Amino acid sequence: MTSSSSNILDQSVQFLKSVGPKRALSFNKIGINTIRDILFYFPSKYLDRTNLTNSAQVYEHLMNGYDGELTVIGKVIDKETRRYGNRQILTVKFRDQAGFFGCTWFQGIKYFEKRFKEGDIYSISAKPTLSRYGEVQFTHPDYDMITNDESQVFYNTGKIIPVYSVKKELKQTNIGDLSLRKIISDTVGKYANYLTETLPEELKAKYSLSGLNTAIRTMHSPENNEKLKEAKKRFKFEEFFYIEMLVAMKKHNYITQQKGNSLRINTDLVPAFLKTLPFQLTAGQLKVLSEIRRDMEANKPMNRLLQGDVGSGKTIVALISMLIAVDNGYQAVLMAPTEILADQHAKNISAMLAKLATVYTKRQINISLLLGGQKKSVKAKNLEDIEMQEADIVIGTHALFESNVVFKNLGLVIIDEQHRFGVIQRAKLQSKGNTPDVIVMTATPIPRTLSMTVYGDLDVSIINEMPKNRIPIKTYLRGESKLPEIYKFIIDKRRDGYQSFIVYPLVEESEKIELKAAETYYKDLSETYFAELNVGLLHGKMNWQEKEAVMLKFAAKEYDVLISTTVIEVGIDIPDANIILINDAHRFGLSQLHQLRGRVGRGKEQAYCILVTKDELAAKSSYARINLEYLSPVLLEKYKSSIRLQAMVKYLSGFDLSEIDLKLRGPGDIFGVKQSGFPELKYGDLVNDTPILTEAKREAFNIIENDPHLTNDRNKIVRNNLINHYSQNLSYAKIA
Ligand code: ADP
Ligand code: MG
Repeated sequence: MTSSSSNILDQSVQFLKSVGPKRALSFNKIGINTIRDILFYFPSKYLDRTNLTNSAQVYEHLMNGYDGELTVIGKVIDKETRRYGNRQILTVKFRDQAGFFGCTWFQGIKYFEKRFKEGDIYSISAKPTLSRYGEVQFTHPDYDMITNDESQVFYNTGKIIPVYSVKKELKQTNIGDLSLRKIISDTVGKYANYLTETLPEELKAKYSLSGLNTAIRTMHSPENNEKLKEAKKRFKFEEFFYIEMLVAMKKHNYITQQKGNSLRINTDLVPAFLKTLPFQLTAGQLKVLSEIRRDMEANKPMNRLLQGDVGSGKTIVALISMLIAVDNGYQAVLMAPTEILADQHAKNISAMLAKLATVYTKRQINISLLLGGQKKSVKAKNLEDIEMQEADIVIGTHALFESNVVFKNLGLVIIDEQHRFGVIQRAKLQSKGNTPDVIVMTATPIPRTLSMTVYGDLDVSIINEMPKNRIPIKTYLRGESKLPEIYKFIIDKRRDGYQSFIVYPLVEESEKIELKAAETYYKDLSETYFAELNVGLLHGKMNWQEKEAVMLKFAAKEYDVLISTTVIEVGIDIPDANIILINDAHRFGLSQLHQLRGRVGRGKEQAYCILVTKDELAAKSSYARINLEYLSPVLLEKYKSSIRLQAMVKYLSGFDLSEIDLKLRGPGDIFGVKQSGFPELKYGDLVNDTPILTEAKREAFNIIENDPHLTNDRNKIVRNNLINHYSQNLSYAKIA
C-alpha cells in the first residue's frame, strides 16, 4: 500500500470511539478487523415509508386477508407476564401514531422482559395476527431499537433508517442496535473521506456510477430509495468488474502460452474412423468438431467448454478429438465422474476401436482404464502403460489425479460431465501435460451468467441438435396409487423389447436406511409384480466390479428391469432402455431429473419417463399453468417441488429447464459458484443483475486486451486495487 490515507483505514477497530480492546475482539469474531471493514459493513435492511405501516393499517390488512410480514414502529407503554399452568406469556404493549399493538413471547421471557423498557422505541417486524380481544399482535417478532431522534427524523423527513444485523458475538460485549448504528455512523462520518476510489473515472462517467465515498455514505444513510439504488449499483458493478478482470487475466494468461506444435489430421486415421460409424454425425456435432479442430491446429492451447444436452452425442466428439491427438503422437485422457461411466466409456470406445482396426491397419490404438480399487498388479501395469505411452487413450475417474499417474506425452485432456467436478480439478489434470488442449463437456446447461463468470475463461461450443432418429420422450406425472398400472405398462412394453430403469432416491444422510429400502423394494417387486421378469439391482455401495457386472447384464438384455439408485444419473447409455420410472420424484433437483430422464430415448423407439410422487400437491395437474414470473417468493417456495415436476412434464430441453432451475434456486445456490475459486459475491446477484454483469465484463476484457499486464498509467487504479484486495485470487494473473 502506498498512500498514507489507506493506512488509517487499515487501523484496528479498537481505536474507534466507544469500541476498545474487548469490543474489538467481538468485532474480529465476525470478520470485522479494520476501520475499512466497518465502512463496508452494510445494513441488512432498511426501514422506510414504503415498507412501514401503522397499527391501524395492519388491522385493515388483516381484515382484507393479507397474511404476509409487516413492520411497525412503536413506543413501549406497558408489559405484563401471565401464567397459564406451567407456561408463561409475556405481552409488551406499544403505542404508535395510529393506536396500539402488542407483542407476545412464550420463550425467553426473562430476557425480553428486561429488553423492552417503557419509553423505548422499537421497530417490530413479523406476520401479525389479531388477539382474541381484536388487537393487532406480533408473536416473537424481529425487532430493532430506534432512538427518539431517529423516529422524529423518520416521521418528519421520511429519511430511511438503516438496520444492521447485530450478531450474538457483538451482543456479548453489549453492542446493540443503537450502539452499533452509532459506532458505524460515527466511523462513516469521520473516515469515509479517506477511502481511495477503486473504479476508473471513465467507467464511473460512462455508466453514471457514484463515487466510492458517496456510495458508502449513501449505503449507511440513504436520503431516499433512488439514491440507495444508485449506490448499490456501484457496488454491484465494481464487484462484477473485478471478477471479470480476474477472468480476463486468466484467459489471457492461458492463451498466450505457446504450445509449440499444432495438431493436424496427419494420416487417414480419422477419415477411416468416420467411415466405420453406423450413423452420420449431426450438423451440430460437425460444427463443434470444426471448432475443436481449429483450436487444436493453432499453436496456443485450447480451453473449451462443450455443451450439449443429454443424448446429443458428446462422446463421439470426444473420441474423434482424442484420435486427432493420437494421430499426432500424443496421449489423450478422458475423465468421468463415476466408475460405471468411465467403465462404459472404455467398453464403448474399445468396441469402436476394434471396428476401426479392421479397416485401419497402419497402427494399433491402445486404451487403458484407470479406476480406484483395481487390483495392484492391474493398476501397476496400467500406470506403466501410461508412463511408457503404451496407452494412447486413457480413461478413468478421480484416480487419474493421483501423483503416481505420469503421462509420457499428454496432449489432450477431456473432462466428461464437468459440472460434477470443481474447477481446481480441471487445473490438476491439465498440469499432467505440457499445456495440453482441454475440453470440458457438460449436459447441464450453464446459465449465461455462469458462463460469464465461473466458466468465463473458456471458449464455448454448443451441440444444438439431437441425432435425427430421436422421438421426443413422453413424460408423465403420477401419484403413487398409479404404481400398479405403471408396473403393468412396463411388463406390457417388454414384449416390444423395452427395458426399464426404476430409480429409487438415495439421500445421503440416511444412506443405510435408504439402501435397505432399495433392497426391500427390489425384493418385493421381483417377487410380486415382476415375478415373470428378470430384475437387476444397482446401488452406490457396490464396488465397481459388481456395478460393472450388473450393467453388462442389463446391456446384454439379461435384465428387463434395473432397479437403481441415482448411480445411473449421469452418462449411462443403454439404447434399448426406453422407460424410466422415477420414484419420489419430488425429492430430486431439476437438473438431476433431467439427467435421469436422459438415460432413455437414446435410440429410435418412443421412450417414456414416469415421475411418481406421493406429494399430492405436486401430482395435481392444475399447477401446470403456474407462471414463474408472477409468483411471489413465498408461493415460489411453497410450490417449488410441484413447479419442478410440472416443468419436467412441459419441457424436454435442458436449456429451458436450467432457466427455471436458476429461478427456483436463487442466486446464492447456483452449482459451481462456491467451488470456483472466485471471490464470493457480496452485492451482485447472478439471477437479476445480468445487464450489469454484461457491461462489467465488456469493460474488463477490453482493458486486458489493450493492456494485458496493466502497466499503462490509466489503469493504475485497477492495478492497485487488484493487488490490494484480490491478491489471493491473482495466482493465475501476471501483473507483478
Ligand atoms: P451424451 O451427449 O449425453 O454424452 P452420448 O455421447 O452418450 O450422449 O450419445 C447418446 C447416444 O447417441 C449414443 O448411443 C450414441 O451412440 C448415439 N449417437 C451419437 N451421435 C449420433 C448421431 N449423429 N446419430 C445417431 N446416434 C448418435
Ligand atoms: Mg455423456
